[in-house]
Amino acid sequence: MVNSTIQKTIEALRTELRIHNYNYYVLAQPTISDYDFDQKLKHLYELENTYPEFYDKNSPTQKVGGDITKKFEAVAHTWPMLSLSNTYNEQELKDFDDRVKKAVGENIEYICELKFDGLSISIRYENGKLIQAITRGDGIRGDDVTNNVRTIRSIPHQLKKNNYPEVFEVRGEIFMHRAAFLRLNKNRSELGETTFANPRNFAAGTIKLQDSSEVAKRPLDCYFYFLYTNNRDKLFKTHSESLNALREWGFPVSEHFSICGSMEKVLEFISYWEQNRNSLSFDIDGIVIKVNNYIQQEDLGFTAKSPRWAISYKFKAEEVQTVLSKVSYQVGRTGAVTPVANLKPVLLAGTTVKRATLHNANEIKRLDLHEYDTVFIEKGGEIIPKIISVDLSKRKQGSMPIQYPTHCPECNSRLEREEGEAIYYCPNDQHCPPQIIGGIQHFASKKAMDISGLGNETVEALYKAGIIQHISDLYTLDSHYEQLVGMERFGDKSIKNMLLGIEQSKEKPFHRVLFGLGIRHIGATIAEKLTEHFENIDSLISATKEEITAVHEIGDRIAESLINYFNDPEHLEQIALLKLAGLKFQTERIENQSTGIKLLGRTFLISGVFENISRNELTQIIEINGGKMLSSISGNLDYLIAGENMGPAKLVKAQKLNINIISQEELFEMIK
Ligand SMILES: [Zn+2]
Repeated sequence: MVNSTIQKTIEALRTELRIHNYNYYVLAQPTISDYDFDQKLKHLYELENTYPEFYDKNSPTQKVGGDITKKFEAVAHTWPMLSLSNTYNEQELKDFDDRVKKAVGENIEYICELKFDGLSISIRYENGKLIQAITRGDGIRGDDVTNNVRTIRSIPHQLKKNNYPEVFEVRGEIFMHRAAFLRLNKNRSELGETTFANPRNFAAGTIKLQDSSEVAKRPLDCYFYFLYTNNRDKLFKTHSESLNALREWGFPVSEHFSICGSMEKVLEFISYWEQNRNSLSFDIDGIVIKVNNYIQQEDLGFTAKSPRWAISYKFKAEEVQTVLSKVSYQVGRTGAVTPVANLKPVLLAGTTVKRATLHNANEIKRLDLHEYDTVFIEKGGEIIPKIISVDLSKRKQGSMPIQYPTHCPECNSRLEREEGEAIYYCPNDQHCPPQIIGGIQHFASKKAMDISGLGNETVEALYKAGIIQHISDLYTLDSHYEQLVGMERFGDKSIKNMLLGIEQSKEKPFHRVLFGLGIRHIGATIAEKLTEHFENIDSLISATKEEITAVHEIGDRIAESLINYFNDPEHLEQIALLKLAGLKFQTERIENQSTGIKLLGRTFLISGVFENISRNELTQIIEINGGKMLSSISGNLDYLIAGENMGPAKLVKAQKLNINIISQEELFEMIK
């Protein structure tokens, strides 16, 4: 790499990490995983170490201690925090019952507990003092969030004198009461801050805040449900005895647990709470069933992932009734028109629901939806609520069926529907505002051109200010500096950052550019396949349908979409302008290095995704240089080349086997 490119990479990483830090610590709404964050930080750290001339005391790598960029320390759990296997129906519970009885006999007592919808925590006490609180993490290691947990009022710091063991761990669930959630969320929305989807997310976001005083302002609560200590089975015979003891020692333990002598009793308990869960002040998402007797628990043991003596029953999605006020139509980036049901606001699973998705015209037909219908809606997990059915008995007389529009609600073009598809499209992709905005947002997005400093809101603002109308306008933005400075909430720094991001995007490979164009049906993988076959855009533009479908895994639908796209002179003009701006419209072949022995006798595995190079290209480089590719991690593996989003399990395995984990840059060093 040339020095100026390195400096740009370093600066781009710093900017990106600062944004993530802000999202994580200040907004408590991270947009990438902790793992991805750590990988980026590591990458920056390595670059800064290799090129100390770019040292900056304000870099995110330099800030430790007291500052908001400080990360939580990862700590190993003394007893792994396993998750329970889930069931969703009676039959699966009966199967569980059969398995248990087969293993330890008919004489079984189950204990049923509410499954709190929050985040799990493990807290260590020594001599009655709270010592350390760790999140679940990956079950083996979690984050040390002791200071934040100390702010939760219901969790004791110091136990009263009692007969507790010298050292023990309690497991519990931290959650937020619904009323507190609604109130805080309302405050946030009034302040123009982004709101949280549900109490669980709010609680989880809060516990990851760096500033404990901010945590203390948010009312969190906790219930405890599990005790770990050495010789536990000498102290107690059953799980329920340990729960009672926890309560005596001063821990909040939910009163709603029940000992059941049979699976029938278990089912009764489940059914009761499925119907009455709204009477609680907090969310539960199911019931946990455990074998009560410790000796029997021990006999049953564990599978690799979870205990055999416990199971969780997840409630079906909650369902409520409300009234449809109207159906509106949203036009997406691809021109797809999505109907949305606007509803009379109703509380569902802890959140206020005002809208539900209707997917497409067929869905409206299936429901036979009429104006002002009373509808049943449900919400499963994080998914947007949907309408399940209409209560026909409440239909108003004379109300008209919902008519799907024939023209685009945004630009009034006649809508089109591809044969065999359920979705209507607005064909006017160059002049329909949401399509233009969506198209540019897609182009700048992470998976496409990954332009830092050009987020969705900025794109929208630039379009509304009349500064950009096409993707190619991004590359002449620097000539609009005066106009940019005049825009609201757009500082000099963020403009420079954006322009730098746009400039850097010119280095992105052909397949990212092709994906970025947003041609219908051309996803990231398809784009990569196409650019491996067609080495430049001109050969793709002039290709016939037969030539395109000759590419492995490329079918008629994709070929037709490409031909359609390139038939439009406005699209060709855009491509010409982007070419002129210096974007890459051809595949860069790796030069055949005839030496080819630098990696001889060494084995490699590639994991994750890479910024500027495809995995295929990396494989080529390795093989050209005499290296051998392996298909999985084993003792035979010499090097694991780690990109972004590599699975944590792989990393752990590689570390265990002492395999060299290297970056793409380190690989290039090896073949220099
Ligand atoms: Zn339109």
